[in-house]
Amino acid sequence: MKAPNFEKLFAQLALLNQPQRQQVLAALHPAAGLDRVVALIDEIRSKGRRCPDCGYERCHRHGHANDLQRFRCCACGRTFNDLTGTPLARLRHKGKWLDYLDTIVDSRTVRSAAKRLGVHPNTTFRWRHRFLDRVKDDRPERLLGIVEADETFLLESQKGSRKLDRKPRKRGGRAALQPRKRGGRAALRGISHHLDCILVARDRSGQTIDAITGRGALKVAQLVKHLLPKLDPQALLVTDANAVYPPFARAHGIAH
Ligand SMILES: [Zn+2]
Repeated sequence: MKAPNFEKLFAQLALLNQPQRQQVLAALHPAAGLDRVVALIDEIRSKGRRCPDCGYERCHRHGHANDLQRFRCCACGRTFNDLTGTPLARLRHKGKWLDYLDTIVDSRTVRSAAKRLGVHPNTTFRWRHRFLDRVKDDRPERLLGIVEADETFLLESQKGSRKLDRKPRKRGGRAALQPRKRGGRAALRGISHHLDCILVARDRSGQTIDAITGRGALKVAQLVKHLLPKLDPQALLVTDANAVYPPFARAHGIAH
């Protein structure tokens, strides 16, 4: 749209009533989501951009496809975009990805996320696995400073979908990854042998690790396997009253 026309249109926005404003927002939302995703992808990838095939660092812009800039490698001639070779390559509906990430943070199920975003449940199922794939590669090396560790429980049958058998605890916007607070466990204690235990540990900078330690209560050996390698030797471990932590901390010289 030419600038004068746009200015006219923009001036008229003030005249909209409330339902009309909602309608305009809803119409713009997916496009705005796409712009944000495309800008984010470019921001993240532009620095070290190289040919996914031969690794050469120089490439030319080579048109657009699927909402993304395409590039052509100056050495081997292969064309690629910033998602080629990643789990997100060829996934559609990019304008809804950031909204989808919000549903992950809310611990929404595949089905309820699909409903919220207006896409097929198969789509959110695929996204869940592709997006979480990436998260796995993003694990921190070491948790530093004050590290909170706790356990949460998941029904065996829920593992694939990561659908928790409880309402997500909302705290600071990252409910799914937050260690649970003392008191939440009592109701689960009796049935914990039916459930898979997930160990979650997080430091104050927000770095988080989690590990599925298996059926039943947490054991020292599992802490040694899953937590110890990720724990800075100087870290201060903060946990609830679970009896498994003190012997673990003592045995490995960790402040608790
Ligand atoms: Zn190349």
